[in-house]
Amino acid sequence: PGRLWVVATPIGNLEDLSGRAAQILRDIPLVAAEDTRHSAPLLARIGSRARTIALHEHNEREQAARLVESLLQGTDVALISDAGTPLVSDPGFRLVRAAREAGIAVSPVPGPCAAIAALSVAGLPSDRFVFEGFLAARASARRERLGALVAESRTLIFYESGHRIVDALKDMRDVFGAQREGVVARELTKIFETVIDAPLGELVDRVEADANQQRGEFVVLVAGASGEAADATLAEGRRVFALLCEEMS
Ligand code: SAM
Repeated sequence: PGRLWVVATPIGNLEDLSGRAAQILRDIPLVAAEDTRHSAPLLARIGSRARTIALHEHNEREQAARLVESLLQGTDVALISDAGTPLVSDPGFRLVRAAREAGIAVSPVPGPCAAIAALSVAGLPSDRFVFEGFLAARASARRERLGALVAESRTLIFYESGHRIVDALKDMRDVFGAQREGVVARELTKIFETVIDAPLGELVDRVEADANQQRGEFVVLVAGASGEAADATLAEGRRVFALLCEEMS
């Protein structure tokens, strides 16, 4: 059978595509991409003439079955997403699982990942961390999730988009407290890269005051609850959560 290569691609700066990733994408006959039109320039840039097929959250189940067929028949397949590492807040989990279940070898071609890139420059404890991905779009669900994390002592990592960054930061401030340290890592590896670290109260003010700081792609990191702080934070979080629930009922 063929091999499934899970290939990380850049999160902004195209130079971040590794030599090995470029070589595999150039040599491979078939690329499964989250959005084939989005990936076309990257593939063209490295001279890849691979056939591309779309694999996204709406068709992953059917496409995974088809791709496993091709793999079983001996075709190598590379999986890429629009940016960064596939499966990290991106499609691919079902395909990888189906491939492994079929006994197909799955190899990583590691590279950029926004969460890890942000963690590597945030200056927050990095020995233990929790990746939370995207928070819910609905305010109530978002606050509920944050409430469940209030006593978490590991560094928290979230993904966020421009149109929700201010609301999300406000909820984090309200739930974790204005003094908790946070970091907003925006547009990493791109022209307007900025990394701001400040207590959550100040972080909200700074991002809200500057429309430019609300544009682009964001990773938000929040320091974990400190030992003694954890109990107090938990009590405060529960209090705020109760208030919010009351407000919404
Ligand atoms: N698979 C990707 C990875 O490995 O990071 C993540 C894909 S997810 C659909 C897209 C989100 O990742 C964005 O909304 C943003 O939160 C984060 N992200 C991606 N590129 C980024 C960048 N250059 N700077 C900051 N955050 C980024």
